[in-house]
Formats: sequence, C-alpha cells, structure tokens
Amino acid sequence: MKAALVGADGELLHQDRRATGRERGPDAVVADILGFAADLRAHGVRRYGEPASAAGVAVPGIVDESGGVAVYAANLGWRDVPLRALLTERLGVPVALGHDVRTGGLAEGRIGAGRGADRFLFVPLGTGIAGAIGIDGRVEAGAHGFAGEIGHIVVRQQGAVCPCGQRGCLERYASAAAVGEAWAAACGDPGADAADCAKAVESGDVRARRVWQDTVDALADGLVTALTLLDPRTLIIGGGLAEAGETLFTPLREAVRRRVTFQKLPSLVPAALGDTAGCLGAGLLAWDLLADTTDPSSPSEVTT
Ligand SMILES: [Zn+2]
Repeated sequence: MKAALVGADGELLHQDRRATGRERGPDAVVADILGFAADLRAHGVRRYGEPASAAGVAVPGIVDESGGVAVYAANLGWRDVPLRALLTERLGVPVALGHDVRTGGLAEGRIGAGRGADRFLFVPLGTGIAGAIGIDGRVEAGAHGFAGEIGHIVVRQQGAVCPCGQRGCLERYASAAAVGEAWAAACGDPGADAADCAKAVESGDVRARRVWQDTVDALADGLVTALTLLDPRTLIIGGGLAEAGETLFTPLREAVRRRVTFQKLPSLVPAALGDTAGCLGAGLLAWDLLADTTDPSSPSEVTT
C-alpha cells in the first residue's frame, strides 16, 4: 500500500508505504487501510496543524466508483466492501473511491505524461495489462466499471489461454509477465524476466529479438484496435515493460505506424509518474471533491 499527502496542484507533500498483508485475509487488509489513512491524517495534523480536507483511495479489481464500493479483487479476496463509507466514518472528511489503473491514468493524464491532452489512453504493461481512457480531465469507467480492459482484446485467434476465459488476449503476449515467460522459455533460464529480455535485445541476441518483435507486434495490434475506437491524442505506455525505454518505443511506434491507414497517429510516450501514479491520482480524486470549496492551504490525503 502506498499513501501520500497531496497538495492542490498534485504535489507530493509526504509519502509512506506499508505491506498489504493480504495473507491475513481481506478483513485485515481493510482494517489496515483504515488505520493507514488515520495515521496519515495524524501526520497531517502534526505537520500542518490541521487534517487533510478530503481523502481518495484507489483499489484493484472491480470498483463501483459512484457507489463507493470495492466490489471484488481476486488478489485481495474481498467482495462488496463499502470502503468509502468506512473511510468517511473513520476520517470525518469527504472520501472518493477509485479503480487503481483508472486513478493512475487520471494522474498521468493531468500531471504526468499526458498533461494537457484532452483525450488520452494510458496502458500499463505489468503483471497484466489494463487501460485508462481519459476524456476531458476525467477517466471513463464504463457502464459497469470495465472500460479500458485492453489487455483482454483478442489479438491472436486460437492463441494462448487467458485466465479471463478467452484465448489470445493481448495480456498473454505483451504484459511484462508474458514477455518474461517467453524469454525464459527461449533462453532456457527459468529466472529470466522481461528486463533481461530487453537487455538481450540491446546486445543483439537473435532469440531475444524474435521474442521482442512478437511482443511489439501483438501490442501494436491491440493498440491500433484501441486507437481506432477512441482516437486518443496521446497514448501513454507505462508499467515494467515501458522501462525498456526506446528499445520498446522505437519499434512500437514503427509497428503502430505501419498498421494505421486512415486513423490519426497519437503521440506514443512513456508514463512519467512511475508507481506513484495511483497515489497521486487518488489525491486528485480527493481534490476534485473539494473543487468548489477549496482551501488551498490544506493537503488532501490518499491511500492506494
Ligand atoms: Zn483475457
């Protein structure tokens, strides 16, 4: 869990991290989130003489943002946790609840790599692949909270089985985890990961270049589907795989460019905020709650 005090312009005033402790079960995780937020409030009082004016929290899985409910998270094991009500009761201030990737995308779009873009798509390539669709300063959640799930666009007919129940999902080819697995199989070192693959590509390894090109092709197929639908001005790629820098971005821009015909090419850029994006985005959600009654001197408080 990452937590921060965030100022009115999205500046990071204080941050802290704690283990999620998910092995102790969902009730313990929820209790820890509430305790972490209360400790952060106390820090704000000590440091600024008053508590944060609002709080934002971003969690993984299925999130009902308007109802303030953490509906389901496979990795945390919770179902229908009324997190917004619990935090409001604990902190005594307005609380916003968001989805982790959409909230990270909100921060990248407003104060990170997409700053100033009226339409953007944020796609982090990590253990899995998700997406955040940015429209005029907010992120589209969809009718049921599933908007942006680009990782489960099918890019290879009859391809690898995905835990979601389909075959050939983008996530099975272009997540950092999938690239690591493909490179481990190709090079024979079971401990090799995506970063090792990128290094091998840079040193000219032919097998690594093949794995990498397959990844880039699958990713470009998925991204072109998304940009055909959404017409984003900026396409922000984040997560572990984006740390390969131009080793990824140069061939990816070329692969996307080759595929489009009538579509306008968005600028394709690396994410700027790293793993603080979710935390900063939660702060922005909190500030949005105060948008009409802002006292710029008091920081907002966030937990992700
Ligand atoms: Zn899938």
